[in-house]
Amino acid sequence: MVDWIIVGAGFTGTTLAERIASQLDRKVLLIDRRDHIAGNAYDYPGKHGILIHKYGPHIFHTNSKKVWDYLSQFTNWEPYYHHVLAVVEGKHVPLPFNLNTIAALFPPFMAENISRKLIETYGYGEKVPILKLRESKDTDLAFIADYIYRNVFKNYTFKQWELNPEDLDPFVTARVPVYISRDDRYFNDTYQAMPLEGYTAMFTKMLSHKNITTRLNTDYKDIRDAHPKARVIFTGPIDEYFAYQYGALPYRSLRFEEIYKETQYAQPSGTVNYPNEFDFTRITELKRLGNQHQNAPGTILIREYAEAYTPGKNEPYYPIPTRDTAEKLKPYKALAEEHAGKVWFAGRLGDYAYYNMDQACARALALFEKSIASAA
Ligand code: FAD
Ligand code: UDP
Repeated sequence: MVDWIIVGAGFTGTTLAERIASQLDRKVLLIDRRDHIAGNAYDYPGKHGILIHKYGPHIFHTNSKKVWDYLSQFTNWEPYYHHVLAVVEGKHVPLPFNLNTIAALFPPFMAENISRKLIETYGYGEKVPILKLRESKDTDLAFIADYIYRNVFKNYTFKQWELNPEDLDPFVTARVPVYISRDDRYFNDTYQAMPLEGYTAMFTKMLSHKNITTRLNTDYKDIRDAHPKARVIFTGPIDEYFAYQYGALPYRSLRFEEIYKETQYAQPSGTVNYPNEFDFTRITELKRLGNQHQNAPGTILIREYAEAYTPGKNEPYYPIPTRDTAEKLKPYKALAEEHAGKVWFAGRLGDYAYYNMDQACARALALFEKSIASAA
């Protein structure tokens, strides 16, 4: 007897499986069409003694004590601050663009003038999205806004999305705001850490409950009718669930290129972004993400190339947040409403929302408390 079928063993599906099994004492069948758990956070020990993040580098960060405490039941953590450098005019400079970046790129008198203007206008410690900074009428601020837009955002965004920054929902570029401080960390969240033994080990613990059966290599379409009484939580693409009846929602995909080098370290920070050069957007050195693999003699670099998503060919990594896709999503949300009480949709693909890992987990915890616990 299965009470709940959960489709997708990523952060969303696994959190919900764990909650339903442990808090409601209900039987869960968790399926994933991939041959592993952990969704896009899946990692595994590679042959060079370095933990590989199969679907691109994943760095955990959150301001939510609730999420942090929840996940801490299943893993120990290793504190880790992610640092990103962007190559601008041939120099490696800190990102998010901050007062240190200005000092690294401009002659001292210019840097001082621009920094003073930014502090006077917005306040020290404030974060200003590039699209907001570009609205400034002040000559010096307009200069720096234009400089940052051209050298950091325009070409990177085009490589990543095949769109200009202003054609995306403003929150996308606001993820990396101009930071009026000397804090060089890519994230400022209260909790920043990597799971000590990796994400897959954490997911394995979350799923080791007698009420949870995990079945891999299983597509929902193949078991759809097998458990007619079970309630369903679907964390795959919402348009796929409804057989694309209102047309396919667009996603952005990526291709990862893995390069092994026989050297201790190959680049100066965890990630180096290349806004203007090359076809790839960024390179991450896995060995720098935590200490698990410090003893490996070599190092692995992952290059990310963004590309169009084609079902069956590559993975739907990113929903594309634009006004147009928000419109395309509406009829699917309405269909989901009609199925309320029988099927729940959640997650980066189920909600068609650009969630970080902690947001996927928070969404699952909130859904559990608000709707699922009372439906059981
Ligand atoms: P997913 O992890 O995508 O899981 C959904 C699962 O559902 C998949 O395993 C899929 O196989 C399965 N599925 C779908 N349809 C079906 C079906 N019909 N039948 C069976 N199974 C199905 N977040 C961070 O916080 N920090 C980072 O550094 C970070 N880096 C990222 C880097 C990249 C390149 C990408 C793409 C994302 C990154 N993220 C990061 C975001 C993070 O991956 C997501 O927030 C998280 O994986 C969302 O979890 P989810 O469970 O909603 O979805
Ligand atoms: N971005 C950019 N240049 C950079 C870094 C980010 O233009 O050097 C923009 C780009 O549009 C990107 C968005 O900011 O998609 C969010 O960046 P983030 O690093 O958060 O993206 P993710 O890690 O989710 O791919």
